[in-house]
Amino acid sequence: MSKLFQNYKRAQIEFVKAEGNVLIDTEGKHYLDFSSGIGVTNLGFHPYVEAALQQQADQIWHTPNIYLNQLQEEVTEKLMGDTEYLAFFCNSGAEANEAAIKLARKATGKQEIITFKQSFHGRTFGSMSATGQDKIKHGFGDGVPHFKYAAFNDLESVKQLITTDTAAIMLELIQGESGIIIADQAFVQGLVQLCKDKNILLIVDEVQTGMGRTGKLFAFEHYHIEPDIYTLAKGLGNGVPVGAMLGKAELGPAFDYGSHGSTFGGNKLAMAASSATLNVMKSPDFLAKSFEKGEYLKRQLQEKLKDKSSVIEVRGLGHMIGIETTQPLNEAVENARSKGLIVLTAGTNVIRLLPPLTLSKEEIDQGIHILVDVLT
Ligand code: PLP
Repeated sequence: MSKLFQNYKRAQIEFVKAEGNVLIDTEGKHYLDFSSGIGVTNLGFHPYVEAALQQQADQIWHTPNIYLNQLQEEVTEKLMGDTEYLAFFCNSGAEANEAAIKLARKATGKQEIITFKQSFHGRTFGSMSATGQDKIKHGFGDGVPHFKYAAFNDLESVKQLITTDTAAIMLELIQGESGIIIADQAFVQGLVQLCKDKNILLIVDEVQTGMGRTGKLFAFEHYHIEPDIYTLAKGLGNGVPVGAMLGKAELGPAFDYGSHGSTFGGNKLAMAASSATLNVMKSPDFLAKSFEKGEYLKRQLQEKLKDKSSVIEVRGLGHMIGIETTQPLNEAVENARSKGLIVLTAGTNVIRLLPPLTLSKEEIDQGIHILVDVLT
């Protein structure tokens, strides 16, 4: 009998080893990973990241944030490129979003934040309150006040919620947990203009879409926008827990001495993993090639599944793909796993694929073969 809280439904299988994009269970069975954890090990179990972790562990793996940390500076520069942002490091996506919410409120002196129905921003009280899905909040009593929920891809519904106390609009550019719902270009451009006109901050939650997941380092690059604040976690440390909140430099004074903090955030081991991850992702052509591979996967699935009666739609961007299906999701996931493929679900009727960006063409084809089999 497990002594753990039963807040997860765990498949009766344990992975004890990994090689590249393959997971190995206690029985020695091999599985091709089309999940990257849940969008975390975006480079698979990459030897370069492993070596960086081992090297850092050999030196020092933790110092608190009351001392200099050159690795944090290094990771921030790699994340920012030529743009002018400041970074705060934490340990998870929820914490990164907490930091974003706090920064937006303090920098503007306003309290309301507009988020979206079906969104997911985390499980802490702030990030849970930002989340637009009732099932996530059920039973926990009153949340943090001043969040309002607009309809996704509906600019009018956002406009209707704006008041003189609106500090920020916060969104995922692809809603991941609710079923790979992509923000329209026109909607996002409309939000940017609205924020400009009304002096409201735009926060983009890149926890799932960031770190190469959609074929760019950040999904907002597909929209040619620069959010005021964006948040990262999942793929940032390629499996080592780390989160980050990046805000435009002019917001800096709001996060002054003593205003916010984290004991573990940005520790040396996490930063070594992030730095190595970014080196791989920023190497010439890596992201462009990964985008092509993701699009190949999507197009092949669209083509091969188009006549299957159980498939409603295949959609996505880069390595973030949803297959909307009439098949019972648990059955489909278990069926795929029994054939050696690990996939995820999203919403009520979507098989979610978040494969590592490092899949070979052969591995992609192998995954497609299994998925077609499962959905036939
Ligand atoms: N934001 C988004 C878009 C997510 O997908 C998630 C996790 O799935 C989170 C926030 C929360 O991240 P974490 O579980 O690291 O707190």
